Amino acid sequence: VLDVRGLRICFGSHEAVKGLSFAIHARETLALVGESGSGKSATALSILRLIEREGGAITAGEMLFGGDGTVRDLRNLGDGELTKLRGCDISMVFQEPMTSLNPVMKIGDQVAEVFIRHQKLDRAAALKAAGGMLEQVRIPDPLRRLGQYPHELSGGLRQRVMIAMALACRPKLLICDEPTTALDVTTQAEILTLIKGLQAEIGMGVLFITHDMGVVAEIADRVVVLKDGEKVEEASADDLFRRPQAPYTRQLMAAAP
Ligand code: ATP
Ligand code: MG
Repeated sequence: VLDVRGLRICFGSHEAVKGLSFAIHARETLALVGESGSGKSATALSILRLIEREGGAITAGEMLFGGDGTVRDLRNLGDGELTKLRGCDISMVFQEPMTSLNPVMKIGDQVAEVFIRHQKLDRAAALKAAGGMLEQVRIPDPLRRLGQYPHELSGGLRQRVMIAMALACRPKLLICDEPTTALDVTTQAEILTLIKGLQAEIGMGVLFITHDMGVVAEIADRVVVLKDGEKVEEASADDLFRRPQAPYTRQLMAAAP
């Protein structure tokens, strides 16, 4: 679904990503790993074309996004196309859901809004769909949750709400930027299992960003290791854990608990 070639990203004169290439296929999970500052989030934000809002710029490369028999370079999209892309074709889940949820709007209304906006459902139908979506992400007692506000939910449940919203329009690509980092180990494992299950159901590709090699082992099919904005290794998850090639990868693994 996505083929990134020679991507370069600059913040002013600082080059954060230096000619990065990788591809993600449908039903596949590619983990993008690397230490803090290696350029993982910058890459994710560039795919969604949100990097400009952060003061960055894409200075070279292609990001070919395929679907419905068409291939488009995400760098060339106009504003209307970008809105559709972000809301529908590519979804993103961030580390801390509290920043993405509206604190003064009921959970049900926030999830329903996605259905109203993208599937043109009326309010009643959208609320019903929202309830179904909360059920799909295994939130217990979903109908009661629809009437609650974000602060009434645990961090794990809020992350499930974010996943529900991200998957409401059945994206072709889901980008997860450290979605489990703020969660305890048990909740983290539950969220990873949930994402894997929904991926099998929807058939989307997943770009999973993390610095946690344990999470990589749990979820990834393939892994790209990033260091200072450059790819130092790319391998299947099996190969990476059995025979890491780059010294830097071995160092990352040695540092993992
Ligand atoms: P982390 O694991 O901490 O989330 P990361 O791999 O996601 O790190 P990025 O956020 O992509 O790293 O940052 C890559 C580089 O770009 C870093 O050197 C960072 O300092 C720089 N950078 C990121 N955002 C900005 C910004 N808004 N303005 C200036 N420089 C930035
Ligand atoms: Mg980051």
